[in-house]
Parts: sequence; C-alpha cells; structure tokens
Amino acid sequence: MIEKRQFYINGQWVDPAAPSDFEVIDPSTEEACAVISLGGAEDVDKAVAAAKAALPAWMAMPAEERISLVEKLAEVYKTRGEDLAQAMSAEMGAPIDMARSQQVGAGVWHLKNFIQAAKEFQFDKPLGDHAPNDRIIYEAVGVAALITPWNWPMNQITLKVGAAAVAGCTMVLKPSEQSPLNAMIFAEMMDEAGFPAGVFNLVNGDGAGVGTALSGHADVDMVSFTGSTRAGTAISKNAADTLKKVHLELGGKGANLVFADADDKAVKRGVLHMMNNTGQSCNAPSRMLVQEEIYDQAVETATEVANIVSVGNAHEEGRHIGPVVNETQFNKIQGLIQTGIDEGARLVAGGTGRPDGMNRGYYVKPTVFADVTPDMTIAKEEIFGPVLSIMKFGSEAEAVEIANDTPYGLTNYVQTQDSDRANRMARLLRSGMVEMNGQSRAAGSPFGGMKQSGNGREGGVYGIEDFLEIKAVSGWTPA
Ligand code: NAD
Repeated sequence: MIEKRQFYINGQWVDPAAPSDFEVIDPSTEEACAVISLGGAEDVDKAVAAAKAALPAWMAMPAEERISLVEKLAEVYKTRGEDLAQAMSAEMGAPIDMARSQQVGAGVWHLKNFIQAAKEFQFDKPLGDHAPNDRIIYEAVGVAALITPWNWPMNQITLKVGAAAVAGCTMVLKPSEQSPLNAMIFAEMMDEAGFPAGVFNLVNGDGAGVGTALSGHADVDMVSFTGSTRAGTAISKNAADTLKKVHLELGGKGANLVFADADDKAVKRGVLHMMNNTGQSCNAPSRMLVQEEIYDQAVETATEVANIVSVGNAHEEGRHIGPVVNETQFNKIQGLIQTGIDEGARLVAGGTGRPDGMNRGYYVKPTVFADVTPDMTIAKEEIFGPVLSIMKFGSEAEAVEIANDTPYGLTNYVQTQDSDRANRMARLLRSGMVEMNGQSRAAGSPFGGMKQSGNGREGGVYGIEDFLEIKAVSGWTPA
C-alpha cells in the first residue's frame, strides 16, 4: 500500500502538524490503495505563509521566466504520464487507457495552451492612442487557493496551476481527498521543474478542514474552486468576510438538442459522450432532447448503444467504462435511478444494481431513461453517473425552453444540419459553452458556466485573466 502522508510546503515535503490518516479507496476493488494525511488549519497557515513570502519575487519575475518554468513543467509532465495515469486509475477509477489518453492528455494540452496564450499576452500596455499617459498593468491577484475535485483531476489542477503560475500568483493546492495521489505526483513535477520554493504548495485535506481554512484565510487573496454547487456556495459564504476573489466552476445538467435533421451519428455520439468517464463530467450531455419526428428511432438507437457500453475494472486495458468514484456516489446514483423509475420515466437500458457478474466495486449499469419530463427529479438533478435522460420536443422554441429550464448553465449541445438553426440555438441557449454537431472546443477556448454552474473561465488567455488584477495608471511617462 502506498503511504504518502506528507505535504509539499515551501519547496519541501513536510510532515503534517498533527497526524490524521485517511485511506484512499480504489473504486474498482473497494480496497484501500493508499494512505494520506488530512491536514488542518496549522498546515494551511504554513503553506499560506510560504506562498505569501514567495509572492513579491514571483510577481516581479519577468513573465518570460515564469513561462519558461511552465514550459519545463510541460516537459517533466510528459515523463510522468504513466505514473499519473496509474494513480488516477487507482484512486478515481478512470479506465487505464482512458486515463492515459484523456485524463493525462488534458493536462499537457492545458499547459501548452497557457504557454502560448501567455507569450501573446500583453501584461502591460497603453490604454489607447487617445491617452498616452495612461497605462494598463495586469498584475497577479496574489496568493491563490486552488481547490479541485476528483473527476478530472489533472485537467483541473493544470487549468488552475498553469494559469496562476504564468499570471504571477503563488498558490496552495488542495486536491480532492478522493484523488490526492496524482496531485502529489504533480507536486513532484513542480519541484523537478524548478519552481522557486513557496510558489506552489500542496496540503491534502477535506473540505470541512483544509478547504474551509483556505477559503476563510486572511492571507489568501483568491480561491479558485471546481466542484459541486453545494461546496461553491459554502466557499463563497466563508470567503465573504475577507472579500477575496472567488472563482467557481460548478456542476451542470447539459441539454443535447437532437433535431430531426441531425446527422446519423448524433444519437450514438450523445450516448457515448454521456457515458465517458462513467458520466462523471460536469459538462456531460445528460438530457437528450429529441425532436418528435425521430424520437422513437432515437430511443431505440440510444438503447442499443448503452447496451454495448461495457463496464470493467479500471486497471484493465480496453474501451470499457470504469466504476464511479466511491460508495457515496454509487448510492446516490442508485437512488436517482430508482427515483426515475418511481416517477414514471421509461427505463430502456440499465437500471439499479451492479452489471451482471459484478459484485464488488462501484460499478453502475449504463442506464437510459426515455419519456423523461421536465418535472422529474432525473431531469433536474445532476446525477454524475452513466445515466441518460431522453426527453421529447416539438418546436425549436420548446427545445430552448426545456434546455434553459435549469439552474445550471455549463454546456449545451446542438445536433442539426441546418447551420442557420445551429447558430440561432447557440445564441439562445443560456450556458457558458455550446457545442454543435460533435465539434469540441479548440485550443485556448474558455471553459466555464453561467447561472449556478459558476462564474469564471478557465483555459487559454481567459483562464490567465482570471488570476490577474487590472491596474490603471495615469501620469505614466511613455518610454
Ligand atoms: P465537492 O464539491 O464535494 O468537492 C470538490 C472539492 O471541494 C474537493 O477538494 C473537496 O474536498 C472540496 N470541498 C468540499 N466542501 C468544501 C468546503 N465546504 N469548502 C472548501 N472546499 C470544499 O465535489 P466533488 O464530489 O469532488 O466533485 C463533483 C462535483 O464537481 C460535481 O458537482 C461536478 O459537476 C463538479 N465539477 C465541476 C466542474 C466544472 O468545471 N464546472 C468540473 C469538475 C467537477
């Protein structure tokens, strides 16, 4: 069993102030795969003090030097890909091939995009030709607390650390206690890349302990959080007393609008997208809205596709989906599937219980409900498992109304071969992202939501800007 009880503070691995063992459970086996320690307020104080002490020199360092350290990090990252994949596979159940390609791949992609965006970014520029003595200076927000979830761990960590680093913020990372191992490998990579002591610190812990200590800390200038809407609310409240900047990336309940003129692969693509990462993606297209003309056919296709999605041990190679992350999520998903049945949705694939032949591990059957109506719980709540709800619509207006009838607003999807309609939908859907006809976002595109899905943007130049303050200087003497 892996034992990793230390935290990375001020460039060194240090013991926790008080021991507090926590077992990391492998969801494929339900066995502990590692022991870490949960930190507390004293550990947070040390890490924040280190970040605060490192801030002036880090902010003053020319941006090119910070960018070159991120370039070094991206090089080191490539050498640790297999370690990261194995860690994520064990701790959060990403099937190993998918962990290698998607989970690990996301991290290096974000780092590369930040490097490019930062090289093009003007950290210091004139206000405009009309005001030669006015200067706009982009300056680091300061000490940033980075609180990340377990579902796309390396994706989230690189989105925050890469942006904070090039912006000139120093940071304290608190990864999810469910998936701390990849984050500790990442801390080793930051060390190897040569970041100055105190610029990056890691303290493991849970939300109530380390998370709360960070969000309420007087010397933390910003919290960048990804996770549930529940925790986002708690963090915002706790951060209010110190009026720190709070950046939130929260949950979603994405609608996938499949019009009668959608391409042949649209339904299959939607189901597979839903099932990817075992449905544990905030931007999952969890509500498939299908136009009435093709509704019956779409339900049939979705059923067939869900029935061929195989479920298996995350340590085995192959194209299966893995278990969900832990017992709590497993029970929550089982409960929501049962609620779907009880509220009258038509179960066409999957259902409650583990897949046939599996009696250990948090495995969920790939599940599809048809005839879901907007008032049903499964149409409203984020399930965060491999469960798709199919709903019927008639007109465009009805589709938009159903899609927008949610407190969330992260990603919506449109499938139609009518490009005018697609563009119309893009404007009408209330979400931070709209993806059409299976086309995913390009490098440097901002990720983030509206409404209760959050309030910031991550990735590319948009992600860097979120870690910067804008300073307006008048009376500047041009060079
Ligand atoms: P979670 O909110 O329980 O935990 C996320 C992180 O927050 C963990 O590190 C946890 O320890 C910490 N935390 C929990 N309570 C806290 C508190 N009161 N104060 C400070 N920190 C606290 O969520 P989860 O179960 O880890 O992740 C699943 C959720 O995250 C889903 O709702 C999903 O939609 C959302 N998510 C959103 C995005 C996005 O970019 N919008 C990305 C991934 C996941």
